[in-house]
Amino acid sequence: MLTNDELSKWDRESFFHPSTNIGQFARGEGAQRIIRTAEGVHIIDRDGHRLLDGFAGLYCVNVGYGRTEIADAIAKQAQELAYYHSYAGHGSEASITLAKMVMDRAPKGMARVYFGLGGSDANETNVKLVWYYNNIRGLPQKKKIISRWRGYHGSGLMTGSLTGLELFHKKFDLPLAQVIHTEAPYYFRRKDAGMTEEQFSAHCAEELEKLIAAEGADTIAAFIGEPVLGTGGIVPPPKGYWQAIQKVLARHDILLIADEVVTGFGRLGSMFGSDHYGLSPDIITCAKGLTSAYAPLSGSIVGERVWEVLMQGSDEFGVFGHGWTYSAHPIGAAAGIANLKLIDELGLVANAGRTGAYLNQRMQAALGGHAHVGEIRGEGMLCAVELVRDRETRAFFDPSEGVGGKVVAAMLRRGVIARAMPQGDIIGLAPPLCLTEAEADVIVGATVESVSEVLG
Ligand code: PMP
Repeated sequence: MLTNDELSKWDRESFFHPSTNIGQFARGEGAQRIIRTAEGVHIIDRDGHRLLDGFAGLYCVNVGYGRTEIADAIAKQAQELAYYHSYAGHGSEASITLAKMVMDRAPKGMARVYFGLGGSDANETNVKLVWYYNNIRGLPQKKKIISRWRGYHGSGLMTGSLTGLELFHKKFDLPLAQVIHTEAPYYFRRKDAGMTEEQFSAHCAEELEKLIAAEGADTIAAFIGEPVLGTGGIVPPPKGYWQAIQKVLARHDILLIADEVVTGFGRLGSMFGSDHYGLSPDIITCAKGLTSAYAPLSGSIVGERVWEVLMQGSDEFGVFGHGWTYSAHPIGAAAGIANLKLIDELGLVANAGRTGAYLNQRMQAALGGHAHVGEIRGEGMLCAVELVRDRETRAFFDPSEGVGGKVVAAMLRRGVIARAMPQGDIIGLAPPLCLTEAEADVIVGATVESVSEVLG
C-alpha cells in the first residue's frame, strides 16, 4: 500500500481538484484530506480520523456509507451487463426498472424520465428540452431562462450560467446571454426592510413580473429554482413564495423546472420538494439522492405538458438528437434500484422529516440566542446556522475574517464535518437521511462548542 506521504505528493503533483484554490494546493498549502473508507454516517481518513459526515459528502450519500445492498447490486450488474447504451430504443433490465421506480415516486403530472450522470448534465438536458419544446411549438424566440441569485444548478456552460453565485461566473465569461437572474427568496436579509414573509414573497413575484415585462414574455422559456435554495445558503422559501411565483409563470406561459438535485428522494421529509411545497413543475431535475452517490446518475423527469409536445414534434423532427454515452448507465441504474429500495425499507423519508426536525430544534434551542447567530433555518434533513457580526442589524462579518470557515474548521477538530457555504458565514448541515438523534446531538454539540470557540 502507498504511504500517506507518497499519496500526498502524487495528489499535489497530479490531481487537478474541482472547486479548490489551484495555486495553494499545488504549493502544498490549504486543506488536503485523503479518505480511506466510510461506514454509516462516518468517514475515516488516511490519518485514522473518524469524522461524522454532517454533509453526506455533498448532500448526496443519503442512505449513509457502506451499504452492502447497493455494493452487491453494483457488483452483480458489472458482471452481468456492465454497459450497454440506451440509444435507439435500447435498454437494460436495470435502467427500465429504475425508470419505473422513479415514475412511481414522482409527483403527479410527470410522464417520462431521461437519465444522465450528474445534476449539471441533467440541467443542460432540461434547457435543451425547453428550447426544443418551444421550437416545436413554433416559438423560436422564446428561449431565455430565468434563475435566481444564490441558486445552484451546476457548473457547465449553461448550468454555471444558471447558478447565481459569482464564484461560478468570475473569469469564465459567464453567464451566457440566454440566462437572466431574479431576486433570491432570502427573507433573512430583507427583514430589515420591514416586510413580513408573505409580503417578501409577493415582492419576489413582483420582481419576477417586472423582469418578464422588461425582457418580453415572448422571449422567456422557463424559470428554474430549487425548492429550498441549497448551495446558496440552505434557505427554505418564505411563506407563499412558490404559490406567488407559479401564478406569474402560468400567466406568461413560462415553464417551471424544479431543480430537486438536493431535495429529490426524501431530504425534506417528503419524496420530492415539489410535493412538500405544492409545486407543479414541468420538469424535475434529480441526481444525488437517486443513487445516494454510490454511482453517478441523474434524471430529468419530464411532465405531461412538455412530453405531449415532444411526441408531436417527433413526427416532424425525427430522432431526438440528444444523448450521452452513459445515459441510463446500467451500473448507475442498479445502484439506484438498490438505493430506492433501501430508502423505502428503512423509512428514510420519514426519518429525514423526524430526525431532521429534531436536529433543527436542538440547534435552535442551543444556539438560537447566541449574540452572533442571526438565524437558524432548515427543513427536513437540512439545517443552516447563519453567523452575523450584529444580531440586531443583521450586519455581516467582513468576508476577509473567514468566520464561517473558522467555525467549520473548529467543528472538524471535534470530529464533525459541516460545510462553510460559499456565500456568507453560513454553517451548512445536510447529514445522511439515516441520522439518529444521538448523532444529531453530536453535531449540535460540536457546532455550539465551535461557535463559542471562534466567537465567544
Ligand atoms: N443542482 C443542484 C440543486 C445542486 O445542488 C447541484 C450540485 N450540488 C447540481 C445541480 C449540480 O450537480 P452535479 O454537481 O452533480 O453536476
